[in-house]
Amino acid sequence: MRSLIVDDDEMGRMMLATLLEEFGPCDQAENGKEALALLDNAVAASTPYDLICLDIIMPVMDGTETLRQIRERDQQLGDRTKVFMISACNSPQDIENAFFEGDCDDYVVKPFRREAVTQMLSRYKLI
Ligand SMILES: [Mg+2]
Repeated sequence: MRSLIVDDDEMGRMMLATLLEEFGPCDQAENGKEALALLDNAVAASTPYDLICLDIIMPVMDGTETLRQIRERDQQLGDRTKVFMISACNSPQDIENAFFEGDCDDYVVKPFRREAVTQMLSRYKLI
C-alpha cells in the first residue's frame, strides 16, 4: 500500500506515518499544494497512492479544496483515490462537511489508535 499523509501538524504526520509505514511506502506533505504536486508526480511515475489521509484545516491549501482537486483528477483518470479525512475528535462539523460536500471515503480521528487505523485499512482492503 502506497500512502500519502497531508497535515500541517508535524507530530500528527509522524504518528500516522509510523502506523502506515508498516504497510508500505508513506509520503508526507504539510499542505494541499504540496500534496497535489506529490500526487501528480506519483501518477506520472505510474505509482499512484492507494490512500491519502487529509487534514482539513491547513495553510496554503486546506483539505476541502485539496479533496476537490483530487476528485477532479480522479475524474480525468477514470479512477477513485481512497481519501480519509484526518480529524480531531472535537470537530464533528468538519467531518460532516467533508462527507457531504467533499466526497471523502472515511475519516481517522486524532489521536490515532493503531487498532482503529489497521481495522480501517483492512475494511477498505488496503492491507
Ligand atoms: Mg491542521
